[in-house]
Amino acid sequence: MKGNEVDMVELDKMVDYCMQHGANYFDTAYMYVDSKSEIAMGQVLKKYKREDFIVADKSPIYKMKTRDDVVKIFEEQLQKTQLDYFDFYMCHNINKNTVDTYRNVNMYDELLKLKNEGKIKYLGFSFHGTPDILREVVKEHKWDFCQLQVNYLDWDVVKAHEQYDIAQSEGIPVTVMEPLRGGGLVNLSDKALAKLKENYPDTTPAAFGLRWAASRQNVITVLSGMSNLEQVKQNIETFMNYKDMTPEEEKTADEIARIIQSQGEINCTACKYCMEVCPKGINIPAIFSLYNQYKVTNNKMLFKIYYESLAESEQAHNCIKCNLCNKNCPQNLEIPKLLAKIEEEYKKG
Ligand code: SF4
Ligand code: SF4
Repeated sequence: MKGNEVDMVELDKMVDYCMQHGANYFDTAYMYVDSKSEIAMGQVLKKYKREDFIVADKSPIYKMKTRDDVVKIFEEQLQKTQLDYFDFYMCHNINKNTVDTYRNVNMYDELLKLKNEGKIKYLGFSFHGTPDILREVVKEHKWDFCQLQVNYLDWDVVKAHEQYDIAQSEGIPVTVMEPLRGGGLVNLSDKALAKLKENYPDTTPAAFGLRWAASRQNVITVLSGMSNLEQVKQNIETFMNYKDMTPEEEKTADEIARIIQSQGEINCTACKYCMEVCPKGINIPAIFSLYNQYKVTNNKMLFKIYYESLAESEQAHNCIKCNLCNKNCPQNLEIPKLLAKIEEEYKKG
């Protein structure tokens, strides 16, 4: 990606490398990259035989007003991707704010009809809600799979363990999203990195995090957002020589998670869902990321330099505390309060 544009040349190289090395599962969604992701994926994949690649797409619950919208938007997605079926298709981001709409427009029933017509091979949902809602959703229908946020930091922080167990108990296979927590498990703090290197000097944080997610039973796919060919090569290398984690490695992961949490980082995955609703255009994930780095490095001057490099309109002081963002945050962060705290810290000098 270049800003909010897809770098088609780089994407083409990335997809070619994947296809040449056995990585053929591509995950997209209606709203990714300002709704340009589906079109870009369709363009780069069209040179391949349809049976050689797998596409996962997602239905945007937030756009549904009536049950007719479910099919209308599905057909639009097929057109954008230039495909005539999706291998994996999900109700996107079921959570406490979307679950009523998903039920009211009978999404599952509408999508099941499309599955019966051969336009969807596997029907599932992605989830960012509480375990209570998940317990209800898994029992409502016969799902083929679900997509959960599983990584060694979230295992306890956002009850990923509980959610994973619910899927397990219903026998629903899991595709993993955010295995590296939006890059948070790649750019480890010095202390967390030292713990990893002390025990496993030859591994990288990314390889360690991906292997941790892939080592859970019942996980059929581990997704990882990649921005360039180099990242693709590194991740493929991890899975070319894949081995499940040993109990000792699991213990190290727990220790690193405890170090990260103890350093007071804000658990933002940079999904940007908050920004879709913020009337002031505040760059919430960027601010949280800068603050997290500051907390790790304790370098206030650098924090201020970077913070001031954000457009003035994107900075925290513009927040009007309307709380719209909170409702969209899968991590249940109290965003306005955190922004106020960061702004205060910034002003302290
Ligand atoms: S509370 Fe602040 S950050 Fe959140 S949506 Fe409103 S203005 Fe944006
Ligand atoms: S604050 Fe919440 S919604 Fe916004 S980017 Fe971070 S995790 Fe996503």
